[in-house]
Order: sequence, then C-alpha cells, then structure tokens
Amino acid sequence: MGTGQEQQNSAAQGAQQGEESSLFPTYARYPISLVKGEGSWLWDDKGNKYLDFMCGLAVTNLGHAPVKVKEKLKAQLDELWHVSNLFHIPGQEKAAALLTEHTCADAVFFCNSGAEANEAAIKLARRYHQKVLGSGRFEIITFTQSFHGRTLATLTATGQDKVKEGFLPLPAGFKTVPLHDLEALKNAITSTTAAIMIEMVQAEGGVYPVEPEFVEAVSELCRQHGLLLIVDEVQTGMGRTGKLFAYEHYGIEPDIFTSAKGLGSGFPVGAMLGKGYLREAFSAGSHGSTFGGTPLSMAVVNATIETILEEQAPERAAESGEYLVKRLNEELGGNPFVKGIRGKGLLIGIECAEAVGDIVLEGQRRGLLFVTAGPNVIRLLPNLLVTKEEMDQAVSLIAELIQEHTAVKPL
Ligand SMILES: *Cc1c(COP(=O)(O)O)cnc(C)c1O
Repeated sequence: MGTGQEQQNSAAQGAQQGEESSLFPTYARYPISLVKGEGSWLWDDKGNKYLDFMCGLAVTNLGHAPVKVKEKLKAQLDELWHVSNLFHIPGQEKAAALLTEHTCADAVFFCNSGAEANEAAIKLARRYHQKVLGSGRFEIITFTQSFHGRTLATLTATGQDKVKEGFLPLPAGFKTVPLHDLEALKNAITSTTAAIMIEMVQAEGGVYPVEPEFVEAVSELCRQHGLLLIVDEVQTGMGRTGKLFAYEHYGIEPDIFTSAKGLGSGFPVGAMLGKGYLREAFSAGSHGSTFGGTPLSMAVVNATIETILEEQAPERAAESGEYLVKRLNEELGGNPFVKGIRGKGLLIGIECAEAVGDIVLEGQRRGLLFVTAGPNVIRLLPNLLVTKEEMDQAVSLIAELIQEHTAVKPL
C-alpha cells in the first residue's frame, strides 16, 4: 500500500514469492519479470536473456520494439496523443485505406482489443439484418473449441465451456456446433440465423487449421441462406499464417473479419473490417469507442502495416513456418511422445501424448519462451522476421526438452 519506490519494489517481489498481490488473480503467472525486449530477444529483471517464441501471444509479429514503428510512435508522441472520433483523424483514414487496399474489405472500424473487434462484428451482423434488410435475424453460429474473447457476448460465442463458468446468465442469440460437422451446421441454421463466425486456424483451441473443404462449404452455406460470414483473424491475421490474413489461403471472402493481436506490434488496438454493403448498418451513433483509432494508435498501426508489407513478413512467415516444421519433424518425428506437428505459417502446434506444462517451465529456465494451446499442445509463435539460426536454436532446445521429459517419465 506504500507510495515509495522501495515499497513498490518489495510489493512486486512479494507477489513473485507467492505473497498476496494487489492484482486480481486472473492469471497464473510464471515466476519471471521481463523488463526489456529487442527483436526476438527478451531480458528479465535479473539480466537473464530469453529467445521469444510466444511474442506476447501472437502480438509482437515484427519482434520487440521494431525500429520504424518505434520512430513513428516517438514522432507522434511529440504531436498529438488523442482526439475524439467526433473529428476527422488523418492517421485513421490512412490505416483504413491501407487495410482495405490489401484485403477484401471496404470499410474499417477501429477499437482496442480482439474481443471488442468481435463484439463489433456481432453487432454489425445483427444491425445489418435488423436495420438494413429488415429480416429481424440475430443468431450467430460458432464452433466447438473456438475462442472469440472475454466480453459477455464473445465468451458466449466461444466454443469452450471453461470460459463461461460462473458468468450466467449468458446473452441469448448464440449457438455452437462441432467443427467440421457440416450436417450439424446445416441443421443449426434457422430463420433467425444472422451469421456464422469462424477462425481459419483455431489457435487457443489447440492449433487446428480448418479443412479447406469445410471453409468452402461454410462460405457456400452463407451465400445460400443469406448469412454473413465472420472470420475471427485476431490471432491469425497480420501475416502470422503466411498471408496477410488467413482467409486468403482458402479462396473465400468473408463479409466481416477482425484483427487485433499483431495489428499494433504491442500497442493495444483492434479492428473490425467489412464489405461496403455493410456500411449503412453502422450509421452515425450506432456504435463507437472513445479510444478507437486515436492518433497514437494509428501511428503505430500505419508503421506496422507498412513494415509488414516492406519486409514481406507474410511470405517470410510462410517460408520460416515450412522450415520450422521440417526441422521439428527431423528432430522429433520418431518420438512416441509427439503425436503430430501442425499449423500454418508461424502458428505451429506440437501435439504431445501428455500435458506439457512442465516442458514450458523447463524451457523458460533454459532461456526459451513458448506457450501451450490446451494441456497437451506446445504452441510456437516466433516473430515473422525470425532468423534460421534462432529457429535452429529453438528446435534443438525443444527436442532436448522432450527427449529429457520422456527419459524421466517414459510413456
Ligand atoms: C486473443 C483472441 C481474442 C481476444 O482478443 P483480446 O485482445 O484478448 O480481447 C479473440 N479471438 C481470437 C481468435 C484470439 O486469439
């Protein structure tokens, strides 16, 4: 409760040692405090160095503190931080023009997170049906093991029960069907269905790329029934899977898609993007966000998009992803602990025979940061400009960790 720097430090250390923290315990935190980052590398408060293969959960797609983005942010800090969306914001117009030029979207709404972007997508779908078409439709169909966010609407859309526990009553108007079950999806569509919302790779759910035939069928069903197709690209977007947005792999065009994690290189920002015919559904006063698209966040977004394009980051992610999977297969292919290696671009999952939490912790002790996706899946999310040497280093260590784990605890 103190105010001095010393007391703050001791409070932070106390929290690390398991004493009561002043934060709500919403996260089970690792015993590491990271204080500096550059490119693929992070340093903790004790001077230990880490190779970062998680990128703040698919956020720092250009590595930590990318130079051009940092310069543009510093320059904007000297000019103007915030103005209301009641005014024209040139940086916002520019970012929207860049995004629509390089995607199938014609219009963009800026907000501050992935959940908010999905919330905007859900609201836009409902309002288009209710105000523009006059169909009165409202229901959104989503898929099991999906993840769409933590607001009440987006956690209801999420196809995992654990995020819903204790939050009843949930908002009405959502239905979840098994992924890849076309019959179940067809049966779920009724006269109240407004949209289908889907991830191209279920990331939090275990790194499952959706089958191309299924994506095509979903897109076709939407067309037949007059439903909007919403693609959640919060994790898969901004080059992560080897294309600027993952829907491009599938030859489809969503009516609406969302972006957030990689959009601001670590600056909190989200976006909901849609086709031109949806414009009138979001007429003045229908939706908004105080902090959405401020000069500061837009300076970062513009520099991030420009850097991604200049550096050909999606193409590099595709090549590096192929290399990483090849090397992982070479090192781990015959290991009975490893059940499968899958993913798209630099969103990669290693499915294991047992829980991998201990392997993640041991990796941290040896200087490699990565995460899980569900209990048994190791998820690798290096930055899109990662080097071959860094990938080799990570692969050797992961192979070592898995071999040691299976030696200590044979299957
Ligand atoms: C992370 C994530 C979200 C939620 O984003 P927040 O910025 O945490 O609100 C939504 N959808 C997907 C696919 C995600 O990976």
